[in-house]
Amino acid sequence: MIDLHTHSYFSDGRFSPAQIVQAAAERGCTTLALTDHDSVSGVTEAEAHARLHHITLISGVEVTTQWDRVPIETDILGYYVDVDHPALKHMLAKNTAGLRHCVESVCGRLQQNGYDVTIVDVEAQNPRAISYLSVIHALQMRGFAPDYAGGAELFQNALEAGSRFGVPIQEAIAAIRSAGGVAVLAHPPLTMNGEHLTADELQILIEMGLQGIETRHPSINSEDQIYYEALAHQFGLATTGGSDEHGWRGGFTALGTQHVTQVMLDSLRAQCGC
Ligand SMILES: [Zn+2]
Repeated sequence: MIDLHTHSYFSDGRFSPAQIVQAAAERGCTTLALTDHDSVSGVTEAEAHARLHHITLISGVEVTTQWDRVPIETDILGYYVDVDHPALKHMLAKNTAGLRHCVESVCGRLQQNGYDVTIVDVEAQNPRAISYLSVIHALQMRGFAPDYAGGAELFQNALEAGSRFGVPIQEAIAAIRSAGGVAVLAHPPLTMNGEHLTADELQILIEMGLQGIETRHPSINSEDQIYYEALAHQFGLATTGGSDEHGWRGGFTALGTQHVTQVMLDSLRAQCGC
């Protein structure tokens, strides 16, 4: 089993990198990538545990970016990155600051709406990493929402339309490439909001340095998969896939459930030359 898209509690996942590796090992995983949002803090721990289980661990990250062609954030996956590279660290620090600013604004609006949730409450939910999810959890913990759905609704109301963070997409791709990594467009159907990414749009991303497309993901149906695999083939790009496991819905229910083949892994490795 190969899974190239997972999240730990170093972003908005529930479990530690060690727990993810353990669960992957129990499922017969041979290659795993940890791809936390805007963070590589869990990679060293994941690597250490992967060695114990004879799993090949790929250092990964999922970078939040802004692309002027789409109205929502575009996620770019980075694989085989040098987690200590200054360009990567600099970019991730910018995104962490941007996210914090967004969360502070959300807290401010929640307070105006009569829900007294502070950044301290949010950080208390997960001291390792800030996330929108922790805002929802804080709303629940403070008793302002009876359940997750209620908290999510209050959060969405407080998240001002157009309130976004993330470095420009070309900056993210360049930083991943500088750090020796392979830059891959994550789950294109989510980014494109149901529309297909066109060949012309893909060409723009390739000129920025994009090297792959995620073609297997819970959000990608079989028709999209065929479309994006053909596009990747046409442009000689790598194809990747993974569960996007966060661990919140009943533990590791998704881990390893996307069919990621050795051929796909080889196409990714070929892009990084490793
Ligand atoms: Zn993800």
